[in-house]
Amino acid sequence: MKEENTDIQEKPFKPSSPTNRLSFKAEWEYAEAPESTDHISIEDRYGLFIDGKFIEPEKGRYFKSINPANEEVLAEIAEATQQDVNKAVEAARNAYEKTWSKLEAKERGKYIFRIARLIQERAREFSVIETMDGGKPIRESRDVDIPLAAAHFFYYAGWADKLEYAFPGKEVTSLGVAGQIIPWNFPLLMLAWKIAPALATGNTVVLKPAETTSLTALKFAELCRDAGLPEGVVNIVTGAGQTGSHIVDHDDIDKIAFTGSTEVGKIIMKTLAGTDKKYTLELGGKGPNIIFEDAPIDQAVEGIINAIFFNQGHVCCAGSRLLVQEGVADKVINKLRDRMETLIVGDPLDKNTDVGAINSKQQYEKINEYLELGVDEGADIFQSSADLPDNGYFCKPTIFTNVAQSNRIVQDEIFGPVLTVQTFRTAQEGIEKANNTPYGLAGGVWTDKGSKIFRVGQNIDNGVVWSNTYNQFDPTSPFGGYKESGVGREGGLHGLYGYVKFK
Ligand code: NAP
Ligand code: MG
Repeated sequence: MKEENTDIQEKPFKPSSPTNRLSFKAEWEYAEAPESTDHISIEDRYGLFIDGKFIEPEKGRYFKSINPANEEVLAEIAEATQQDVNKAVEAARNAYEKTWSKLEAKERGKYIFRIARLIQERAREFSVIETMDGGKPIRESRDVDIPLAAAHFFYYAGWADKLEYAFPGKEVTSLGVAGQIIPWNFPLLMLAWKIAPALATGNTVVLKPAETTSLTALKFAELCRDAGLPEGVVNIVTGAGQTGSHIVDHDDIDKIAFTGSTEVGKIIMKTLAGTDKKYTLELGGKGPNIIFEDAPIDQAVEGIINAIFFNQGHVCCAGSRLLVQEGVADKVINKLRDRMETLIVGDPLDKNTDVGAINSKQQYEKINEYLELGVDEGADIFQSSADLPDNGYFCKPTIFTNVAQSNRIVQDEIFGPVLTVQTFRTAQEGIEKANNTPYGLAGGVWTDKGSKIFRVGQNIDNGVVWSNTYNQFDPTSPFGGYKESGVGREGGLHGLYGYVKFK
């Protein structure tokens, strides 16, 4: 481990000049530690998982899923058309009426427990595939995504036969068929957030994964078969946005659960207006991470790093706006820049890697446009000096200082390893800046004072506020946004509401 350098914090932060930074290169060279891929089997081509079987798509069209770290093709994935979605919904309706809603609740619970245990048993395989298909560091898929996905199934399995305790005095029934659409940043985990509560409450499912990251959902389909889950209870239809819109438009679906961008969320909300479908929308964010002068600065710097560089910043609740109290701003920024220099960017399958590949070419281009825009808007850019691999889509950890609240890099969700840094003097100013975006998903507050945590936390219009930590997730804890960050909550007891109705 590196000794903490105490000189560096005394140096004033000069945003526009490249200061004499320490070079960590030699000290931070690790031997390669690649995770093995020998044990992984990926088919050349995947059909649609409908009614317990993999079937060919009606129009016979397939698209490629690539590994964004080396641009190699991993598999061909079926594109579901309207007819395919119809078939999936029919299978889900049938399964709902004939088997799933007829099963005793504790029997449903057993299947969900079995799914949870199978995810644990196959955790290594799922982690490696998640990393290959989506570009996230293996350390994260291994230690966060996959264990949390299993934990969601364990947690909701427990609720299956206890709904009368979740909603005392109320008679609860399931809705029917749930249509679920998920993004590419946490593929299996987002699937777990959707499928676990739906099954526990007695609904059946038609789920569409994101186009660039379908593989773990298809592996999950295999796992449902291995678990002996009755046919048609879970159906996986792959495809692009069009496939998603066929799900949203379908008349025989009772509930839409969507996680993705605010832009698509708005389209879905318009489509559903006036129908009797229930919906939950988990949308974008631009999380404020607020550091007060009395915060434990070294921990806060770790928290800033975790908040924005976890999963390449492809995180809806990322702490992408740093708000730091003026008196400690230089110190925090200097320490942050030093810490950024130690981040290892590169092969996602290497266990040392901190920042993996950007999920797709499209996202890579979008992030680069924002980097140019930030400079055009007059901000000062600092990027770590990490060497990037020659192939694949990689982006250097980046911070922008000298930004204005009205800048687009401060207002827009970039969804990449890009942090904007602003300062504030009083708590009130910090709160006002934190709230001054259309989003309200999550944020962080760092201070030594419990009273400040409560006061600031209560005044930030965010669904989640972490104190002296960031990006902590737990299946028992509800998650969701205010304002343009969404409608409804997922996770915890709250996550059951979206899938039940009361008699
Ligand atoms: P996206 O473009 O909105 O896509 C999300 C999903 O919707 C994908 O499966 C996508 O298919 C599908 N889709 C696209 N257009 C559609 C349409 N017109 N009708 C129905 N479905 C459609 O978002 P993304 O870029 O994949 O994901 C990033 C976004 O998700 C960010 O804004 C992030 O903040 C948000 N997110 C929110 C949460 C939360 O809990 N609040 C969690 C994770 C991510 P394709 O993949 O084929 O385009
Ligand atoms: Mg892929």
